[in-house]
Order: sequence, then C-alpha cells, then structure tokens
Amino acid sequence: MEDRLTVYNTLTRRVERFVPNVPGKVAMYTCGPTVYHFAHIGNLRSYIQEDVLEKTLRYLGYDVKRVMNITDVGHLSDDGDNGEDKMVKGAQREHKTVMEIAKYYTDAFFEDCKKLNIKMPDVVEPATNCIPEFIHMIEVLLEKGYAYRAGENVYFDTSKLKEYYVLTNHSEDSLLEGVRDDVDVDPNKKNKNDFVLWFTKSKFEDQALKWDSPWGVGYPGWHIECSCISMKHLGEYMDIHCGGVDNIFPHHTNEIAQSESYIGHKWCNYWFHVNHLNDKNGKMSKSKGGILTVSVIEEKGYDPLVYRMFCLQSHYRKPLEFSYDVMDQVKVSYEKLRRRISSLSGEGTVDETVFAQYRTQFEDALCNDINTASAVTVLYDVLKADTNDATKKALAKSFDEVLGLDLTEPLPQKEDSTDGELAAWVEEMIAKRAEAKKAKDFATADAIRAELLSRGVQIKDTREGVVWELIEQN
Ligand code: AMP
Ligand code: ZN
Repeated sequence: MEDRLTVYNTLTRRVERFVPNVPGKVAMYTCGPTVYHFAHIGNLRSYIQEDVLEKTLRYLGYDVKRVMNITDVGHLSDDGDNGEDKMVKGAQREHKTVMEIAKYYTDAFFEDCKKLNIKMPDVVEPATNCIPEFIHMIEVLLEKGYAYRAGENVYFDTSKLKEYYVLTNHSEDSLLEGVRDDVDVDPNKKNKNDFVLWFTKSKFEDQALKWDSPWGVGYPGWHIECSCISMKHLGEYMDIHCGGVDNIFPHHTNEIAQSESYIGHKWCNYWFHVNHLNDKNGKMSKSKGGILTVSVIEEKGYDPLVYRMFCLQSHYRKPLEFSYDVMDQVKVSYEKLRRRISSLSGEGTVDETVFAQYRTQFEDALCNDINTASAVTVLYDVLKADTNDATKKALAKSFDEVLGLDLTEPLPQKEDSTDGELAAWVEEMIAKRAEAKKAKDFATADAIRAELLSRGVQIKDTREGVVWELIEQN
C-alpha cells in the first residue's frame, strides 16, 4: 500500500510522510491518564485527536496496534521529581485507598471515552501491573552505566547522552515547564535534569504502594512506565507515540533517554503532540480544581459529541480556547447536520464513482496533517453534491468511521413524534423570522419571536445561526 499520510513530527519539527517500520502495520502508543481525578475536557481533547489519528490510519488500511498505559503510581504533582504523589493525594482527598481511586477514575475515564466515541486501545495496562519489567529495565540501565544510585534512590544520568534534548529543539530555556524555580533541587542529582527511576528513600512516609527491589522497598518514577509498557507490547521499534504538548518535556524526553539507552538504538520514529485546550485562565489542568468534565457538559445540555465536533473543527496543533458561545454554535451545526443526514431517503444505489471521488477528498484532508476541519467540509460538500441520497448516506457512514459523530445513527427519541413536530414548527418559524428580518420587517420578526416564546421556545442569534431551547413556563 502507498503511504499517504503526512503528519507533523515533533522529533524532526516538520510535517513528514508517515512510513511505518513494517509496511502496512503501525505500532502506536499513547500516554494514558493519571487516574487520581476525572479527566477534564482538555485531556479528552488529546484523546479525541489521537483517536482520529488512529482511525485515520485504519481508514487508510493500516493494521494498527495501539497501547495505552494507566498511570496509577509515581506521577508527582510536578512533572519532574518534586511535589506529592498525585495518586496518594487523591486517595487522601477521598478517604479511599490508592487502588480504589485508581479503579474508580479508570472506569470513569473509559466511560467518558465511550460517550465521545473514542475507541478503546487494543491494550490498556496499568503501571502497577508491570513492576518486574520496570525493575529489569532499571537494572540494565545501571549495568550499562546510564543510571546511578544516590541517597538510596536510583537516577538516570542525563550527562551520559549525546543528545538529551532531542525532542525539544535543544533549548533548555523554552521548555522547563516541569522544572520550576520554586522547588527544592534534589541534592542527590548529578545533573539538573537527571530523573528518578526508582525511589526507595521515599520523601513521602505515607507512600501507599511499595514493592521489593534490588535497591530496597520502594516505587518507580513516572517516566519508566511508558518505556516498559510500550516495549512489552510493541517491541523495540515503535512507529508513533502520542500525548499532549505538556508531555514533550520532561516526560517524553525522559522516555526517549531511558528507552534508547536500554535498547541501544533508535526507538520511535514519529512523535504526535496535541496542543492544549485552554480556558480563560490558560491551560486547563486537573490540579486547578473546578475542572470541566464530560458530565458538566452533559448537565449543561450538550451531547458529548458536540464537544467532539468542537475539537474536530480546529487543528490539533493549535491551542484551542473553550467557550460556551462556540459550543452553542457547534450544537446548532451538529444538530442540523444530524437532521440533514437522517432526512436522506437512502433511495437508489450507491454511485461508486462519486463515492470514490469524495472518499479520496476526505482521505486527502486527513492525510494533510490530520486536517479534521477540511475533512468535515468534505462531508458538507457531499450533502450539497449532485448525487443520489444513497451515495450521500453511504459516504456519511463511511466518513463517520473516522469522525465518530454518530452521523447515521437514528436521532434521539425527543426528535421523533410530538417533539419532532415541534422542532419542525420551530425551524419553520425561525426561517420565516429570518425572511422578515431580511426584508427589514422587524415587527413581524419580533412577533414571531414572541409567538415562539409563548410556546416556551427561546431563541438566540449566534454567528452560526439561530439556537433555540425549551424554557420552563410558569
Ligand atoms: P494526565 O492525566 O495529566 O497524565 O494527562 C493525560 C493527557 O492529557 C496527556 O497526554 C496530557 O498531555 C494531556 N493534557 C493535559 N492537559 C491538557 C490540556 N489542557 N489540553 C490538552 N491535553 C492535555
Ligand atoms: Zn507516557
């Protein structure tokens, strides 16, 4: 098969043609969640975009094996080796054990994924399942001289590498997100960026989970898990590794350092990073509290897939600011799109030539560094195209394998029967009001708005069109 996908590779800092190690097969790894709290919709932006990447690869015909870890030990509140253990902190907050909260939030994460049509990875492995593998890798790193023992911990020695900053443009200043000035420098470290592979002299007396090791009872640092879990399931050669941009340093930088020192050759060819979802105050983060979750979005009346569409309309490499105004606009377009597709009769036979032509356009958009906004535009072009409904419906169904928007699923119950009639009437009134406004007949436009209101329907003008909702009537 021809390798058509081009994608931005953080390692080379350019958009490149994606060519897997074994033709037609892709070994893909994703850093999974730290399960001390619900995932916020920022985390889920990363997982939605990675899901689209995986589904694009499958759509193009690759045989993909995707592995994800679950971080249930070792991730400190700073991404380096400072601060408290996030899991222990979460357990204390909820008066539960670490394993109880790990289970609870892992389940919650996959429920959220399901609501957002994010496919379950082929392999999901919690860090606490792989302690023997971590110990083995650390032993090899010690033997090879890439690690040292100090203050009863084991550290990775970054000075042993020719190129430690391989992922980060070799610029120390621009990336020190995880290494802040206000934290104590660990006196055991030989070099500023050395990182802990194994803690035995815990700074946390109350560390809940500890294991025996050749260096005493202790627990692993955060980074080792992704190197070990990926190699356990994907071997020593990986094609593509994903995460949010905050993972570039120190997490992915350290993963490369220890993996390549361990195996003695290049490990992963492509690094795919999703930019952040921000709110008004900057990067959305779990530790800030008051986080936006899928449940919050649902409580506010949005189908979680509206959020998926919200993400698909922007490019994964650009920061994205969350706003309810934009969500309202997306909700309107999403509902219109679903109604439009459900109104297709499906009659006729699929025109294979037209189908192939639009499928190629759709693939081209995705092959252009996963341009989801263009891919969605191709869907709109299909709906306007001069072809029969059967072809349009078949294309929508096919595109949905990647877009994951339930495009050809039956509309929710409330759209049927009485509610369906109401919706049709409201749409008709909105269209009449638009005509009146266009003719500058504002009296009629206002009268229509008042009539809608008298039937409990409130309308709001947005950039994307008119949004309406049913309000409580006294
Ligand atoms: P965590 O659960 O903190 O380990 O993060 C899970 C994933 O979400 C990682 O790939 C992070 O890089 C990513 N992530 C964290 N914050 C954001 C954000 N605000 N926007 C997008 N992705 C994020
Ligand atoms: Zn990771």
